Amino acid sequence: MQKKDIDWSKLGFGYTPTDYRFEAHWKDGKWDEGKMITDPNIELSEAACVFHYAQCCFEGLKAYTTVKGDIVTFRPDLNAERMMGSAERLEMPAFPKEKFIQAVKDVVAANAAWVPPYGTGATLYIRPVMIGSGPHEFIFRIFVMPVGAYFKGAIKPLKLTVPEFDRAAPRGTGHIKAGLNYAMSLHPTMEAHRHGYAENIYLDPATRTYIEETGGANLIFVDKEGTIIVPKSDSILPSVTRRSLIEVAKRLGYKVVERPVKLAELKDMAEGALCGTAAVLAPIGMVNTPDGDIYFPSGMEKMGPVCTKLRETLTGIQMGRIEAPKGWIHVIE
Ligand SMILES: *Cc1c(COP(=O)(O)O)cnc(C)c1O
Repeated sequence: MQKKDIDWSKLGFGYTPTDYRFEAHWKDGKWDEGKMITDPNIELSEAACVFHYAQCCFEGLKAYTTVKGDIVTFRPDLNAERMMGSAERLEMPAFPKEKFIQAVKDVVAANAAWVPPYGTGATLYIRPVMIGSGPHEFIFRIFVMPVGAYFKGAIKPLKLTVPEFDRAAPRGTGHIKAGLNYAMSLHPTMEAHRHGYAENIYLDPATRTYIEETGGANLIFVDKEGTIIVPKSDSILPSVTRRSLIEVAKRLGYKVVERPVKLAELKDMAEGALCGTAAVLAPIGMVNTPDGDIYFPSGMEKMGPVCTKLRETLTGIQMGRIEAPKGWIHVIE
């Protein structure tokens, strides 16, 4: 198959329309069959609920070209289930799991010319989205676009901050993947950037003592004994990457503890990282907190050894260099 004429190594994260997208409509109490279309635009009524009540949710996953040359996706069943949960919480009709997985595969196959080749670091980002398009009407769409490697060259640790209460986002609905979370964290995120930090660490809204997650990624830590410490909370998004990293870590023989983690414990950690589909793992170098700056022993120059091992193993599984646990890799073509 003839690939698109793209300099894959120069790709960023911006939107690039590709040739095909899948779209299904909910009307009269049911989803239609859905079909592949070419128009990147959506025409909507001014009364569409998405504009007024933010009735919309989305997903994010990737397709990869493996070392053998297969095009694969990673655990799309988990994205399907998570989107069903998001839709339910927002009073939207669930898009059935098997149809979701099939539609993901169909869109990727239709846009195979856009899937970056193995070894470029670039991947195909897959964005399912559901919106309230009218009274009791909904649109489910999946589009895809090639995106560049998250880290170009060396992986540099990030500086994070813990926002003041008045610019913190209420994260009580963080367990749904939806624009409303991003709308509420947009201002604190931009404030963090203006102060030289890459992201915020949000705390539990009730007591402001426990670590939740960042705006768009979960967090994991490694303590000084080498145990992997994963913040547990009902109000953070169940990240597919975090759940996969926990399984990978256990297979590698690490001890993994999932429990509420106090902000006050940060100073006892040896490594920390953000985890999500975009970066897989992005190391934390320092955190600015109300009680002063905390520098992790892993330093400001490179990712710590445990996070490096986890990242190499998970990306190895996604790229087909390391055998995957059963059911994780779905071959498209
Ligand atoms: C998407 C997202 C994540 C990361 O989830 P993955 O499934 O690993 O990509 C974490 N937190 C929030 C708020 C998100 O929207």
